[in-house]
Amino acid sequence: MSNPILETAKKAFESRFTVDYPDFRETLPDNYRGIHRLDMKTCINCSACAHICPNQTITMVTAETERGPKVFPEINLERCLFCELCEEVCPTKCLVLTKNNELEAYDRRELIKRPEELE
Ligand code: SF4
Ligand code: SF4
Repeated sequence: MSNPILETAKKAFESRFTVDYPDFRETLPDNYRGIHRLDMKTCINCSACAHICPNQTITMVTAETERGPKVFPEINLERCLFCELCEEVCPTKCLVLTKNNELEAYDRRELIKRPEELE
């Protein structure tokens, strides 16, 4: 049986080490869900990602392409739950969650990412 006092002391000792970010970064698990990446070339503009999103995080906005204006997902990362439903439902797998977790910003509006910024 473990000793709670020893366990607490062990955790306190372990937590005194911090990572010297950004020179060093923690290794993230393979299934980590971070900021999205969108491939605008393979997106078929179906809006399925926007419809499935449980937190109304995705808005379909118009962006210019070689084939003329099309609608693509714009993502408000401030509202995102990182649940991955948008990736699961995407029929062409052009929208995926990456391991990028750098969400710092000086202005909340910077967390609203247009399709071009997600490429
Ligand atoms: S990860 Fe979830 S909450 Fe975030 S945009 Fe996708 S469906 Fe919406
Ligand atoms: S990202 Fe995927 S689900 Fe969203 S509009 Fe494009 S093809 Fe459809």
